[in-house]
Amino acid sequence: MHKKEILFVRPKTKICISKLPNLPPLGLLMLASLTNKKEYNITLIDEDTENIDYSKHYDIVCITILTHNKQRAFKIASNFKKKQTLIIMGGSHVTLCQDDVNPHCDCIVTGCGEFVWDDLLKDYKNGRLKKIYNSKKNGFTEVKIDWSLISKKRYLFKNMLITSRGCKNKCDFCQIPEMFGNEVKNKPIEYVVREISNFKKDGFLSKWVIFCDDNLVTNYDYALKLFEALIPLNIKFIAQCSIDIGKDNKLLDLAQKAGLKMIYVGIETTNQKILDKVHKPNKSSNYKTLIDKINNRGILITGSFIIGLPKQSNNDILSDLQFAKENTTFVLFNPMRYLPKTKLEINKSEEVYVSQTDEIPNLPSLMDRCYKEYYSLNEIMKRMLRLFKSKIGITMIFVFMYISLITHYSIIPMEDINA
Ligand code: SF4
Repeated sequence: MHKKEILFVRPKTKICISKLPNLPPLGLLMLASLTNKKEYNITLIDEDTENIDYSKHYDIVCITILTHNKQRAFKIASNFKKKQTLIIMGGSHVTLCQDDVNPHCDCIVTGCGEFVWDDLLKDYKNGRLKKIYNSKKNGFTEVKIDWSLISKKRYLFKNMLITSRGCKNKCDFCQIPEMFGNEVKNKPIEYVVREISNFKKDGFLSKWVIFCDDNLVTNYDYALKLFEALIPLNIKFIAQCSIDIGKDNKLLDLAQKAGLKMIYVGIETTNQKILDKVHKPNKSSNYKTLIDKINNRGILITGSFIIGLPKQSNNDILSDLQFAKENTTFVLFNPMRYLPKTKLEINKSEEVYVSQTDEIPNLPSLMDRCYKEYYSLNEIMKRMLRLFKSKIGITMIFVFMYISLITHYSIIPMEDINA
């Protein structure tokens, strides 16, 4: 049987500044793994690590889209469209802004694609492809990821999975509540254990696993059971989670036992008035105590900050930088963006939501300054001394130095991303 050629693409995702280590494109890998290899030759390209070869023929090109790389995605689609290739689009921007994406593709997939992928491919085979496949389900089905579809050599951290979708909070700048609602859905723990067992355990940092949930501990009882189940697997892991993990000794102890080594935390800003304004349910007065408690368990913190929040001044940003230098191990400074369907975007003309970005005309240079100061050799050495005095252990100090030294930052203008 003549096999069809199918290409899965993640367009460049790196925006503005960060050149943190790349992570595998999990959503695309899931769909590619569900595609029948007897009927399709499958290619997966992550533009953050490799270029698309437009001279190759593909019958179908599937592109996953975030709001910030949509122009790049549209450009890729238009390049393939010239060759009559069928274009399918999915991802968060597609789910939230169908009208925006519609003119650029033949078919769109909204929501969790894995629930409709089989039907879509059957319809394509039978010449009955619909314009929209709307996945109404929000949860998990078990997918055995075919990791051979990507070159793991391109990624520092190679093993990645997700255990939950949705968030109980409703921060004004975040698309997650609109995407998945406020009810959190968790993956059955037996799926998680099997998925981790499927990871290859050879090579550098191969015992490390990344949990890319929006908040790994959002469902307290699930988190306790998950950590219990992870203990025998003997992994080390990094997770995105709320700083509130530091409030609960039982949770923290179990997480440590299970192998938690680093968390990625949305600090956003240390200015409480701004946190309240955008309904981020953090108490900045607790930040330091919680971070110390977490660090004392040998768990490092990557802090995520937003620059350009409503009413945030130049001085607020510099205070945040100072806080980051004194309390975090790695950092991400994200430019404020009014993402579609967020409360911030819907009400952006209201006085309360007006960003001071316009009044901080030097925002790019301010961000550049934040990164340069934070990742200067001087600051890296200060952080290393801090880690030596803590109970972090020599392996983690090595990991810290390795990531600090390979991590470079440069401002990438949006035009370059979308070129
Ligand atoms: S920013 Fe984090 S806590 Fe807030 S709604 Fe989004 S995922 Fe939830």
